[in-house]
Amino acid sequence: MTDTPTQLFIGGAWVDAADGATMPVDDPATGEILCHVADAGPKDAKLAEEAAVRAQEEWARTAPRARSEILRRAYEIIIERTDELAHLMTSEMGKPLAEARGEVAYAAEFFRWFSEEAVRIDGGLATLPDGRNRMLLSRRPVGPCLLITPWNFPLAMGTRKIGPAVAAGCTMVLKPAPQTPLSSLALAAILKEAGLPDGVLNVVTTSRAGEVCEPLLRGGRIRKLSFTGSTAVGQLLLAQSAQAVVRTSMELGGNAPFVVFEDADLDKAVDGAMVAKMRNMGEACTAANRFFVHRSVAAEFGRRLAERMGALVVGPGTRDGVDVGPLIDKRGRAKVEELVADAVERGAQVLVGGHAPEGPGCFYPPTVLADVDPGSRLMDTEIFGPVAAILTFDDEDEVIRRANDTPWGLVGYVFTEGLDRALRVSERLEVGMVGLNTGLVSNPAAPFGGVKQSGLGREGGRVGIDEFLEYQYLAVPVR
Ligand code: NAD
Repeated sequence: MTDTPTQLFIGGAWVDAADGATMPVDDPATGEILCHVADAGPKDAKLAEEAAVRAQEEWARTAPRARSEILRRAYEIIIERTDELAHLMTSEMGKPLAEARGEVAYAAEFFRWFSEEAVRIDGGLATLPDGRNRMLLSRRPVGPCLLITPWNFPLAMGTRKIGPAVAAGCTMVLKPAPQTPLSSLALAAILKEAGLPDGVLNVVTTSRAGEVCEPLLRGGRIRKLSFTGSTAVGQLLLAQSAQAVVRTSMELGGNAPFVVFEDADLDKAVDGAMVAKMRNMGEACTAANRFFVHRSVAAEFGRRLAERMGALVVGPGTRDGVDVGPLIDKRGRAKVEELVADAVERGAQVLVGGHAPEGPGCFYPPTVLADVDPGSRLMDTEIFGPVAAILTFDDEDEVIRRANDTPWGLVGYVFTEGLDRALRVSERLEVGMVGLNTGLVSNPAAPFGGVKQSGLGREGGRVGIDEFLEYQYLAVPVR
C-alpha cells in the first residue's frame, strides 16, 4: 500500500517523532526493510496522552448512535479494502495472503459487533429492599485508555480493543508492536475517514515500549490499560498499573492442551489439529501446544497429522498456493529450533519436518514430533511455530491432571464422540475457552480470554464492552 501512513497519529494529525527518530519495518519473508516509520519517545507519548485526555469529555457525551455509525462505516471501509489491507499485513507479518484476508474479515467483524453494542449500553432503576431508597444505575466510559497490541494478529488485536473503546465512549492511545506498525496506522487512517473525531484515537509506533508506556501508566491520567501480549510483559505492566490503580484487561500467553480420546473421530481430530496448530503458522496464543493422544490411537493420529503437515507448501505469504509463511523474525525461529532440538535430545521422534531451510527469510517447516518426553522445554513454553508435539495418555483423570498442570489457562481442545465425556472433561479443564471437536474458538460474538496466568477480563462478546465502562450509582430517597 503505497499511501500507508508512516508517521505518528496524534490529535487527528500525522506527525513525525519529536526527535525525528524512525525505525525500520522488515519483511520476514526476505529480511529486507520495507519502510521506516516514526519511532516515538516519551515526549510523543505525552502528546498522544494529552490529545486523548482533551478529547475524552466531549467524546463521552456523543450519542451512542453516532459512535455506532462511525464503527459501522469503518467496518465497511475495511471490508472494501480487504485486499490492500491483507497485502500490507502479509508484507510486515508474513502470514499467507489467504490467512491475511481471513484476519481482515475477523478484524472488521469486531467493529460491526461493537457498532451494534454501542447502542445497547444499559442502566437500571430499582427500589431498594428497605423501600425508602431508589437506585439509579448508569454506565459511563472508564476514560482515556492505553491499548498495547502484539504482532501476530496486527489488525484484529487492534479492532478487538478499539471497537469496544469507541462504542463505550473512551479515548485511546494505541501502541502497536514494533514489528507490525503499518496495519495499525492504516486502521487509524480508516477510522479518521469514517468520521472518528480528532484525539479519540492516537497511535504511537515505537521501538522503546517501556520508556513510552511506563510514564503513561504511572501518570494517573490514563484510566485503563488493555494489553495483549506475553505473560512476562503483562506481569510487568500489571505492577506498573498498580501505582495509579489503572483498570486492566490482560490477554496473555497460552499453553493449550489438545486432547484426543480413544472414541474420537480421527478425521475431525486431524482437521481440528491442522487449524489449532497451523493457524497463523502456529504463532497464536490459541495454538495447540501439547497434543495428548490416547495411547490406542496415537500412532494413527501421528501418521495422519504428519501426512497433512508434510503436504503444506512453505514460502513467502504473497506467493500463490503457499500455506505456511515465515515466522516473525530470526529470534522467533531460533526459539522454535531450540525447542525442537531439546525435545529430540530427550527422545522425541521427528515424523516430519524438524530442520530450518537455508536461505533468506525466517521459514520453519511444519513439524510433527511423537513420543515427546513430558520434561521437554516445549511442554511449558509457547512454541509459537508450526510444531506439533505429541504425548500419549491412558485415562481421563490422568490427562485432565496433565492438561491442567501449567500456569496458563487460555484454551483447550477436546476430541471425543461421547457427550458426557465431552462435557465432563471441558468442565474440568482450567481454561477460559474450550473447542469441542473443533480447532477454532475465536469469534467476535464470543467472550475471548483466559484464566490463571493467561489473563484477566474478556474481549468480544456481550461482555467485551464492560471492560471499558464503569457503573455509577445514584442514591435517591423515595419521598
Ligand atoms: P510481547 O509481550 O513481547 O509484546 C506485546 C506488546 O507489548 C508489543 O506491543 C510490545 O512492544 C509491548 N511491550 C513489550 N515490552 C513492553 C514494556 N516494557 N512496556 C510496554 N509495552 C511493552 O508479545 P509479542 O511477542 O508481541 O506477542 C506474542 C505474545 O502475545 C504471546 O505470548 C501470545 O500468546 C500473546 N497473545 C495473546 C493473545 C490473547 O488474546 N490472549 C492474543 C495474541 C497474542
